[in-house]
Amino acid sequence: MYHTVIIGGGCLGAATAVSLQRKLNSIGKGEKVCLIEKAVLCAAESSRHSGIVRSANADPDASMMANLSTKMWKDLSGIWGLKMELDEFGAIWIAKKNEDGENPAWSELAERMKKIDLTFEEISSKSAISKCGTTLITDENESYFFEPDAFQLDPSILRSTLYNAIDANGVDLYEKTEVDSIIFKGNEIIGCTTNNGKFDAKNFVNATGAWSSQLFSKIGLKIPVTIEPVSVVNWMESPRQIKYEYPIIADYTNLCYFRSWRGNKMHAHQPRKRSVYEIAKNFINDLTAVNGGEYLNEPMNQSLAYNQIKNYEDISKKRFSNIDKTVYASGYRSFFDITPDLRFILGKDSKYTNLFHNLGSGQAMKYCPVLGESVAEEIMNESLMTKKFDYKKFSINRFGDDYMKAFWNLVQGEENTLHRQGKNTL
Ligand SMILES: Cc1cc2nc3c(=O)[nH]c(=O)nc-3n(C[C@H](O)[C@H](O)[C@H](O)COP(=O)(O)OP(=O)(O)OC[C@H]3O[C@@H](n4cnc5c(N)ncnc54)[C@H](O)[C@@H]3O)c2cc1C
Repeated sequence: MYHTVIIGGGCLGAATAVSLQRKLNSIGKGEKVCLIEKAVLCAAESSRHSGIVRSANADPDASMMANLSTKMWKDLSGIWGLKMELDEFGAIWIAKKNEDGENPAWSELAERMKKIDLTFEEISSKSAISKCGTTLITDENESYFFEPDAFQLDPSILRSTLYNAIDANGVDLYEKTEVDSIIFKGNEIIGCTTNNGKFDAKNFVNATGAWSSQLFSKIGLKIPVTIEPVSVVNWMESPRQIKYEYPIIADYTNLCYFRSWRGNKMHAHQPRKRSVYEIAKNFINDLTAVNGGEYLNEPMNQSLAYNQIKNYEDISKKRFSNIDKTVYASGYRSFFDITPDLRFILGKDSKYTNLFHNLGSGQAMKYCPVLGESVAEEIMNESLMTKKFDYKKFSINRFGDDYMKAFWNLVQGEENTLHRQGKNTL
């Protein structure tokens, strides 16, 4: 019998497996963690991300966690037993100024970040151009902030690092093994069945991301996760104009993130939508109800339609003067796994006493060392990491019937009803 079976081999499942196995190894009783992945490691969202790690965030807990995570990424030997290559080029944030020519929200954020020793400072447009080159289009009505400690990582390097950490620490990884049913007795999970046989364990972790609601509805759990589709495009660039060592551009004027990619490419995608209405639309259309995260593996999603490429070209042209002279290299459709409040679901389940969740709400890659370590700690009854931020606030308990009722009421409010929005668009 395993100490813990982790279902889902994305970056969160893998990080939890490695953190937990290291803790068990240090006790020396020979107890083992098993990681079950229905495809291959990081087959889903965890290989389709942009590898951006930024810490400045409107939510103080998120900044604190990202800051902790940044330190861990820079030396993973303490939690994964090895190191990983990072590209530390910083990030430039861009947004429109208000009528008074200011950006009070970000100035306030900069002050708050100082308190956790994080540099997020306003810079001039000239300074932004000097960091990015003359092809960056600036505007006097915009403000520019620089986060020097932001960095990017390569998704394929993260994937190899996780394979190495799994082997080095002795996690049993079962790939191409799909959990089809979960067996429980009272309030305890006792096993799960797969195409490779039955697995028993003392604890279970759900790290199936966008597949969570489908898989766990079989044992009567409601996990409010759905997907928001997003497109990604890579442009072939000249290193003479956009060097590989290019800062990440978080462009809130045009709602697009840009980063340089290996092989002299410029990578772009749009962020998650944040309004309740947009989130609700995804829950209403719930693509996970039809085919779960399989949406991702649809062959037709491995390329972009012409109009989507043109959309990105239009957005990119507003930020870079040379984009019409670049070449479209590749693109694909992917998704963000989102919860109603866009926060993670972490820790002990509200019904099954030996089930723990670790899922991410569309932006978890950068936090995966912290989230893996935190869930491993909870399983081991430790609290070194989880006492550093408000871990409990991410518990699945928050999504009781009252929460979902309030969520749908919010959407049905006078100002912003789906019904009314529907009418407006007719
Ligand atoms: C375009 C894009 C850009 C992004 N950029 C960033 C970024 O810059 N920074 C950042 O921090 N985040 C980013 N993200 C988000 C990040 O990729 C995700 O938050 C993260 O990868 C989620 O990891 P996960 O392990 O929870 O999920 P997944 O990687 O989806 O893993 C879930 C795994 O569970 C497996 N599974 C499901 N059901 C079963 C079953 N029944 N049995 C066995 N296995 C099962 C699946 O095959 C899958 O591998 C981005 C996402 C997208 C789409």
